[in-house]
Parts: sequence; structure tokens; C-alpha cells
Amino acid sequence: MDFDYTPQEEAFRKELRTWLETNLPKEYDPETFEQLDQEERFQIQLGWQKKLHAARLVGIHWPKEYGGRGATVIEQTIYQQEMARVRAPGIANPLGISIVGPTLMHWGTEEQKKRHVPKILSAEEIWCQGYSEPGSGSDFASLQTRAVEDGDHFVINGQKVWTSYAHKAHRCILVVRTDPHAPKHKGLSYLLVDMKSPGITVRPLVQITGDAEFNEVFFEDVRVPKANLVGEKHQGWQVAVTTLMFERANFGIVYQMEPALRRLAALAKQLEVNGHTAAEDSSVRQKLAQLYIETQAIKLNGFRQLTRQLRGDPPGPEGSIGKLAASETNLRLVHLAMEMLGPYSQMALGEKSGPDGGYWSRRALASRLYTIAGGTSEVMRNIIGDRVLALPKG
Ligand SMILES: Cc1cc2nc3c(=O)[nH]c(=O)nc-3n(C[C@H](O)[C@H](O)[C@H](O)COP(=O)(O)OP(=O)(O)OC[C@H]3O[C@@H](n4cnc5c(N)ncnc54)[C@H](O)[C@@H]3O)c2cc1C
Repeated sequence: MDFDYTPQEEAFRKELRTWLETNLPKEYDPETFEQLDQEERFQIQLGWQKKLHAARLVGIHWPKEYGGRGATVIEQTIYQQEMARVRAPGIANPLGISIVGPTLMHWGTEEQKKRHVPKILSAEEIWCQGYSEPGSGSDFASLQTRAVEDGDHFVINGQKVWTSYAHKAHRCILVVRTDPHAPKHKGLSYLLVDMKSPGITVRPLVQITGDAEFNEVFFEDVRVPKANLVGEKHQGWQVAVTTLMFERANFGIVYQMEPALRRLAALAKQLEVNGHTAAEDSSVRQKLAQLYIETQAIKLNGFRQLTRQLRGDPPGPEGSIGKLAASETNLRLVHLAMEMLGPYSQMALGEKSGPDGGYWSRRALASRLYTIAGGTSEVMRNIIGDRVLALPKG
């Protein structure tokens, strides 16, 4: 493993830093961003993605023929590091960029690629992912949403849940059951669905943070052209798994760990507890040191994953290690913040009288999502035991 960057990679970092210095949105302040209402935040993210797109700085890992830069895996890492360093806003179409575009490039027909891929990059079309159902989450291959053939169309009936961005999305990658008699993994198909189709109802669900970023989505006799099938009919499981591999390999929390830990260490130096700063308390120091070790291990595991990708291998089950470790370490990190803040930890975001403006309470409320979304920690452990360590099943 070579930890040094090449001159070209350093040049890319410099180009990006210079661009970020002049182009971060003027109205954007990372300290107060989370206090804006959901729609205001979305508009900033939309404007940001369009600006990045104009500079060819969105989807940089995509091949040039699809509007990317064909960036190497190392350049992507530099990109993520630099965005995290300036705490840049997220983009409006994260699922489109991280999972839908790459899946379509792999499995889509030429027509599907031409039709959808450019609009994913430019955020003209926002995408959501319709996998989970009320009775099918971890075991999503058991899903029940039905698609029945009718001439040139599939007719969809059923319900999805926890569908992030569905309230904003123009399109959805939808996994449906086309053969109810086949074994559960073999009767699925993968469709591209226009969210404005008659018969679709989106009902937002409010999360513990107060935001409503995910939704219930109901399908009642929704007609989807057969031309929108990705991969073969009844073979949707293979396509769906490709999407999941891209999802786990891209799990953003990995890049947030170091900046979050630096912020926590700064808080420890500033916070007065029993007549001295929290940083002077030996148990706090030990916990911070432990978190530092874990954060570095997560980073190194990320490099190991990169090495695999640099060799040209597709994202593999190792992505589950990074996802599990980062989301669980993040929980420990916010718990330490809560412990240090004591009663101040209960202050809501934007509350001026506390030492951190409610930043950590908000982060604590949001922290559980990472151990659930994209596959729960238990499921990640199963994958690691089974497919990485090849442990015998009990
Ligand atoms: C913020 C957020 C955003 C999301 N966005 C989307 C989205 O855009 N699209 C989408 O389709 N879904 C989305 N999800 C849903 C997510 O994929 C599911 O919540 C997740 O897969 C778990 O499924 P479940 O909630 O049905 O829990 P269940 O599968 O019912 O699990 C319940 C509990 O049982 C445990 N468990 C289940 N199976 C096993 C097993 N085999 N071994 C050990 N333990 C097990 C789980 O770990 C969990 O603790 C989102 C979820 C969150 C939190």
C-alpha cells in the first residue's frame, strides 16, 4: 500500500481547493445550515449540485462519456476529503449519483443510459430507491409489491416504505415481484418508474430530528412501460445487489469521522467540568484516544478497499466492514459528546445559551440512521461472518 500522492493527484487537490475557495455558496454557513428548514436546505443543495455540474465536479468517478471525469479512486478520495474539510453542503441527488447512475451504466440499455444518466448528473431528475417494504427490510428479497404484465406495460400494486427523497424525486428504482411462484430471489424485476405516474401516492414520515426525508410510497395500478425494465425480467435480484454494493461502498459517514472527532476534541478543550476542562479528565482523554484509533483504523480499511478497486475489482462485501465500523464508531463518538455536555446535551439545535448550539444533540438524534439505512449493523455482521471471514453458520 503506497500512502503518497502522485504529483497529478496533488495537482487535483490544489485545483479543487482553489475552486472551493471561490465557489462555495455565499448563503451557505455549515454552522447554521442544519437550522434551516428542509426546503431551504434542499434548494441550497440543488444550486450546489448545478454549480458543481457546470464545473464538471459532480460524479467525477463516472466515465467521461457519461459526463464524469473518469477520476481514479484516489482522486475520488481526495474529492471526498476536500468536501469534508470545508464542510461543503451535500448534493440534491445523492442516490442518483452514488447508486442509480453506476447501476444503469452497468446494467442499463443504451436508450436508458442516454435518457437518464445526463439528467442525474445535472440534478434535473432526482431519484429515490424503492426497495424496503413494511414486511421486508433486511430480507428485502421477500418483498411483495407486484408487477403484472399487460401488453407493453407492467402494472404495479403495493407499498414501499422509508423511501428517502421520494417527496422530491422525479424517478425511482423500484424492485417488484414479477413471478410470485419462483423462489424469492428469482421472481424479482428492477424497474425505472416515473414518480408522476397516475396511482402513486407519497406520504412523508417525520424522523426523530423533525425532518421528513423519507416516505411511504403507495402504488395503485401504476403503469410502467416494459422499456423501463433494467436487466432481464425475473433477474432483478442481480441488478438490485449491484446497487447495494455501490451503496455500501459509498457510505458517506466514513468521511465525516475525522472532522467530527476534531470537533469533539475542540469541545473537550473548551468545556468546563468540575473546575477544569473536559480534556483534562483522564477518562475523557482515554475515550478520545480510543476514538482516534478507531477512526484511523476505519480510514486504513477504506484504503484497503481502495486498493481492491484500484486493481479493477468491483466493490465487494468488504464495504460492509467500513459501513459497520464507521456507523458504530459514530454512535460512540456522539455518546461521548452527550456525556461531556451533561445537561447541555438536551439543548435543541440553534439554542444559543449552550456551549455547542445544539450541534451534538442534533447529531446524536441522527446517528442511529447510519446503523440502519443501507443494511443494519446485524446484517453487516452476518455478511462479514459469512462472505468475508467464511465462518461456519450456527
Ligand atoms: C434514514 C433511513 C433511510 C432509508 N432510506 C431508504 C430508501 O431510500 N429506500 C429503501 O428502500 N429503504 C430505505 N431505508 C430502509 C432500510 O434499508 C431498512 O430500514 C433496513 O434495511 C432494515 O430493515 P427494517 O427497517 O425493515 O428492519 P428489519 O429488517 O425488520 O430488522 C429489525 C431488526 O432485526 C434485525 N435483523 C433482521 N434480520 C436479521 C438477521 N438475519 N440477523 C440478525 N439480525 C437481523 C435488524 O438488524 C434489526 O435490528 C432507510 C432507512 C433509514 C433508517
